[in-house]
Amino acid sequence: MRKKWVVVLVIALVAGIFLWMTDALSRDVCFAEETRDFSEMVDGRALYATTPFSQGIYSALTEIHEKYPNETELRTIGFSVDGTEILALRIGVGKDKALILGGMHGRETITTILLLDQIQQLLLAYCSSDPYQYGGYQTRKILDDVSLWFVPLLNPDGAEISMNAGKTLKNQELLERVTKGEKNLASWKANLNGVDLNRNFTKHRVSVVDSPGAAFYPGEYPFSQPETKAIRDFTLEQDIQGVLNVHAAGEIIYWDPPYENIARYLSGITGYSLVKPSENTRMSTYDTWYWQTTGRPVITLEIGKGSLTGPIPFAQYGDIWRANWTTSLAFARQIQKAQPIALLLEGEEFPLIHPPVREHSGQVLVPLREVGEGLGAQILWNQREKTASVQLEGSPLYVSEKEEMLLKQGKAYVSLRQLAQALGYQVEWDNYTKSANLVRRDED
Ligand SMILES: [Zn+2]
Repeated sequence: MRKKWVVVLVIALVAGIFLWMTDALSRDVCFAEETRDFSEMVDGRALYATTPFSQGIYSALTEIHEKYPNETELRTIGFSVDGTEILALRIGVGKDKALILGGMHGRETITTILLLDQIQQLLLAYCSSDPYQYGGYQTRKILDDVSLWFVPLLNPDGAEISMNAGKTLKNQELLERVTKGEKNLASWKANLNGVDLNRNFTKHRVSVVDSPGAAFYPGEYPFSQPETKAIRDFTLEQDIQGVLNVHAAGEIIYWDPPYENIARYLSGITGYSLVKPSENTRMSTYDTWYWQTTGRPVITLEIGKGSLTGPIPFAQYGDIWRANWTTSLAFARQIQKAQPIALLLEGEEFPLIHPPVREHSGQVLVPLREVGEGLGAQILWNQREKTASVQLEGSPLYVSEKEEMLLKQGKAYVSLRQLAQALGYQVEWDNYTKSANLVRRDED
């Protein structure tokens, strides 16, 4: 009898040590959670009033990185015309990377505040033991797949011009020359050369403004400005899988044609209206360049109300935050879902003309004929009943009904798991490489 109790005690002890260790390990990922104080976080209102603004942002990002040295990476991706560092901060270890871009236009500094706020809140959620903490999103799971690179202030000089008439800039001579005749510097969008960065990404077809100034001057040629060059190089070097380009204002969302679904998703979250892409919105912008170069999703989010004559009053920030606090993570979630899936057969690449697709539910669908025939089966299509049967020899193993099939550009897609099972294969899923390996089931 006593022996039995000893065994129970030993088991309890081992289990206790195990639980303590796994807890300690998971804690180790996020450094010293319990010492964090929410009140220590950067104060958006104070930051909005900081002079120089870019210095305030620099300090805030540095401070966040020092507080979360293991969970973030901080980089200088380039320098502005005036020589100010342009910073990028990464959260998450995901192999795929999404870029959240803000502060491209001088007067749109509220976007920088929003992104700094998102960074801090995301880090708290990332380090929390509750996986669903952030607006119902599994923060860690998403960021383990898709890292988020934030560039909160691409145009620090433009921000200084809008926020304090450029008094804090080093090159006062250039400032004077470029802003000459400009009455309302608070409405400044361009950089210190008077180039509108969001018109400097591709060759412009129609030029609305032909000399440097507050807005819309595209510059002499694409990427003539250090800020546009910096973000182009960073985007390409990091092989960015999708971009959320945050601007102000108007409470609208722009997208490029293949990605209306992502735009709709973000519209559902923010309540912002969708604006169909037009020649005007696509002209020489970052979005146009990125989409033409990579074919990947890029969405422009215009936060805040009205049309601007200066920075958005901080009084609007509450509404902006409520509409946008989850947008970056929601965007990362969309990129996560869009990750390509590789199909393997006994560990070797299974070449497909039409790649597998993942449904919203997470189910993987494959082209029926290509995969079925690739596994040696015959696919018989019943045109009248719109059904397909799969057979190896003799009688059909699996009949795919109309409702089980997804028709994509005239091709029938079916559940990989069901098809594989019918043909005697098992599907092994590798979450890191996003690959599905078909392994022959042992006959028993
Ligand atoms: Zn803008």
